[in-house]
Amino acid sequence: MKKTLHDIEKGKLRKEEFLNFIFDFTNQAVVKIKEDQGPSLKKIPNKNTYENLGSCPNCKHPVIEGEKGFGCSNWKNGCKFVIWKNDKYLASMKKKPTKTMVKSLLKNGVVLVNGLTSKKGKKFDANLRYEKNSENDYYSWKMEFDK
Ligand SMILES: [Zn+2]
Repeated sequence: MKKTLHDIEKGKLRKEEFLNFIFDFTNQAVVKIKEDQGPSLKKIPNKNTYENLGSCPNCKHPVIEGEKGFGCSNWKNGCKFVIWKNDKYLASMKKKPTKTMVKSLLKNGVVLVNGLTSKKGKKFDANLRYEKNSENDYYSWKMEFDK
């Protein structure tokens, strides 16, 4: 802050800019306080930390939610594990992957998905696995039904 005031004195920052800076800062502080009014005051939400949804079946790194899909946090090193949010296979049954689905899938290797829609428009439930193809590093869905 001292440096900023010093900068104003030197004319580096215009007064309005300085006020904007203060205003933004105050706004953020208010939002933070509001968010923190839960039972655990110490838990400050941080956008830079991602929830670990489970271990990647490929490399055991945490799987995190991204903008377009649920993917392995080790993707920078070439891990290709990802479940796209607009997954075509699921979309063909009018379903989108959810965080809950991904968690269960990573934990158990299989997930019971309710309310899938068949080509004839009938609702049904099925167990889905997401398995690595033997020909390449990509994954695809396998459907199973309870006997
Ligand atoms: Zn991985």
